[in-house]
Amino acid sequence: MSLESKIKDFSKGIGIDLIGITSAEPFNDVERVFIERIKKGYYRSFNYNSERVKFICNPKKILPDAKSIISIALSYNVHVEEIENKLRENSNNTLLKDQKNKGVVNSYNIYSNERETGSKENTGIISKFALGIDYHEILRDKLEILADFIKKISLKNFKYKILVDTGPMVDRAVAFRAGIGQYGKNCCIITKRFGSWIFLGEMITNLELQSDKSNFEDCGDCDLCIRACPTQAIISPYIIDTRKCISHLTQKKGEIPMNLLEKMGRRIYGCDICQDVCPYNKEAEFTKESDFLPILQTGKDLELSKLININESDYNKLFSSSVITWIGRNTLRRNAIIASGNIADLNAIDSLLKVYKDDDEIIRKYADWAIKKIKK
Ligand code: SF4
Ligand code: SF4
Repeated sequence: MSLESKIKDFSKGIGIDLIGITSAEPFNDVERVFIERIKKGYYRSFNYNSERVKFICNPKKILPDAKSIISIALSYNVHVEEIENKLRENSNNTLLKDQKNKGVVNSYNIYSNERETGSKENTGIISKFALGIDYHEILRDKLEILADFIKKISLKNFKYKILVDTGPMVDRAVAFRAGIGQYGKNCCIITKRFGSWIFLGEMITNLELQSDKSNFEDCGDCDLCIRACPTQAIISPYIIDTRKCISHLTQKKGEIPMNLLEKMGRRIYGCDICQDVCPYNKEAEFTKESDFLPILQTGKDLELSKLININESDYNKLFSSSVITWIGRNTLRRNAIIASGNIADLNAIDSLLKVYKDDDEIIRKYADWAIKKIKK
């Protein structure tokens, strides 16, 4: 069996859903397009500059004797009941114990694919990818286990670097070139089995491995995601202006353009609209990864009136294991305030009035906006 086949076989056993290999040649096209888009301001809220882009688009700058890249994808398309059963079968599962201790596992109805219509009206909506434990560590762990295996079976002096969330365009370009999936007009990588509900990670290595073929089946005449986007952030097929994208807006600190506030609706972290409408996602397989079981209870934990004044200790208790922790407490509060204004949440009035004395000018500004919206 070839080294490539052994790696791929092993990856299945550790819960890696998809794996592909590509060369470590630079991603020149991505670099050019990335820099063009930075100049146009599409990535204004990110800390990218041309030096950083050159670095992340050239694997040999990251690992000098890089020859290949192993790209992996993990589905986060959670089917709660299926995972529940898996957890019950294995009562020694440490995740189950952890989650029982946190009181999470008793709340199975916390998530459904109809969460927007099914969840309580006065709660915030978070993206599917943010419901479970922070994916960065999970992907890193899997890639480290894979690296240990490769170390054991490869005869050469094996070197590697693991990357998760290097930069949106680069992760996707690696996955595409490694044959993991195709580009969608919504800029997601779409896979045959799991749709676009996937996390991506990669390992740059000095091993010379046989590359997989990329496959490009474009979206054809479909433009559902472009039409569904509430802010017209998909400015043309395969191009998103992140300044208008709700997913980015909810994750960036500071001000949000006034003309986009209403478009955010109840979204307080991320936005799944352009993925929800995608036909490739309708029949997507569910993940078997128990680590992606939701750790947040959408009914209780995400009540807007509570989030508006959430204190540091409660914020840490609720979100420290979640990717949401990275945006910081005040950014989440700001989003909850905007959402309460958007749904004219009368329950939130008392919380909003308290915010008038807040130290943070941004928080005060949007509270004022929300109160006016509610009183209208
Ligand atoms: S994530 Fe939401 S706002 Fe961003 S492009 Fe998709 S539909 Fe539009
Ligand atoms: S919704 Fe249609 S156009 Fe958009 S990514 Fe999916 S298939 Fe492509």
